[in-house]
Amino acid sequence: MSVKETVLKQDPPCTSTLGNYLWRDPPQESKWADCVHCGMCLESCPTYEQTGEEQQSPRGRVYLIKAVAEGKLFVDEHFADPVFSCLDCRACTTACPVDVDVGGLIEEARGQIRQSMPLKGWKKTVNRFFLHGVFPHHNRLNSIGTLLRFYQKSGLQKVVRKTKLINIMPKHLREMESIMPEVKSCVHKKYDSVIKANGETKHEVSLLTGCVMDVFFSDINESTITVLTRNGNDVCIPRNQTCCGALHVHAGDREMGRKLAKQNIEAFENAETVIVNAAGCGCMMKEYTELFRDDPEWKKRAESFEEKVVDISKYLHDTGYEKPKAMLKTRITYHDACHLAHGQGVRQEPRDILLDIPGVEMVHMPKADSCCGSAGIYNLTHPEMADAVLKSKMENVPDDVEMISMGNPGCMMQMALGVQKYGRNQKIVHTVQLLDWAYQKEERGSSHGSPKD
Ligand code: SF4
Ligand code: SF4
Repeated sequence: MSVKETVLKQDPPCTSTLGNYLWRDPPQESKWADCVHCGMCLESCPTYEQTGEEQQSPRGRVYLIKAVAEGKLFVDEHFADPVFSCLDCRACTTACPVDVDVGGLIEEARGQIRQSMPLKGWKKTVNRFFLHGVFPHHNRLNSIGTLLRFYQKSGLQKVVRKTKLINIMPKHLREMESIMPEVKSCVHKKYDSVIKANGETKHEVSLLTGCVMDVFFSDINESTITVLTRNGNDVCIPRNQTCCGALHVHAGDREMGRKLAKQNIEAFENAETVIVNAAGCGCMMKEYTELFRDDPEWKKRAESFEEKVVDISKYLHDTGYEKPKAMLKTRITYHDACHLAHGQGVRQEPRDILLDIPGVEMVHMPKADSCCGSAGIYNLTHPEMADAVLKSKMENVPDDVEMISMGNPGCMMQMALGVQKYGRNQKIVHTVQLLDWAYQKEERGSSHGSPKD
């Protein structure tokens, strides 16, 4: 069956095709209409910085996306390459004087590409296994966490590394294995669905525990719960919540993104506030409306859901938190995760939290809001570009700091790789962990020393 015939058989029928975009949810004209081709976004774009090519720039990508809508170009591999090589970092929107939403256009264009040119062979199998078979299922994530814990604790990891068995894996997977954090029990499994505040309850909040976050960084989820309960919050963990869908939407799988969004909107229906400690997930959940533009009922529900979603650092900053008394003597620099700074406009709040910890000395990082190259699974799909972007990032990390703080698990893994690759020795931490460690130190009655004491 031809693409055209397949398109005509869409169920329900698609009424919103545009030029050579033949599927539901084409890129929206309102998103590119204001672009005046001024080029003020070029210098902010990591892929343009690396290649100097117009089609690897925001302006070039907007031009290509518009050209397909005008019927001048087709959705083919020449179009797919610049669209998928974008990191969706949103730095261009920050730089753009008229706020062109390049990231939104890119996601919509990817949706068209994935439907016109579906993945085939092993790429299709791997993609379906992880994006459909693992990430949306807490029980399967738990099982993977258990297997990884066994791999790390049983000595198998040491054997695999020592015997060089690890070398059968592709280079970028080997690198990811080498920086895999210690896997602990998932918070989703470990805690009751409601964790009461220490002392008087001031607020009730719900927590997104996440998929990757709860397997590889459950200690950050633990720190988030500790900090929230310490500051008078009852923390609810809805059992039927699922993966936010960011990885799916970034990969062009908007149908699955919609399915997961609906599940989360229902799971958090009764929540007043939805706390997120992963910038990528928070940004996705604050954009659920984009997925329901031709579905008025779900669009309305998505709009009220989005208003409840807030990053942990912004929530603490806005509602107030107890300033820790214990001293964590350390020099820190802060990396702005793209989906926190460019995506949600949260920049100063995490810095203020860090500065409220006695003994923390903040060191400025030049171009702190430039991408690290993580970008979901970009470092796996485009390892060479991700490496080049990471190298540029690491050149801006000050030498004389002990820690690099940030608010996104993907960045934490990528920056850990950068530290290892470029012979640095900084510890990678989430902002909320620092606050938790300061509280812990206070409870132990120690007021001086390093964070590791
Ligand atoms: S996206 Fe914005 S900054 Fe870039 S060329 Fe268009 S108007 Fe200018
Ligand atoms: S989202 Fe990032 S990588 Fe993509 S065009 Fe904009 S600046 Fe470049």
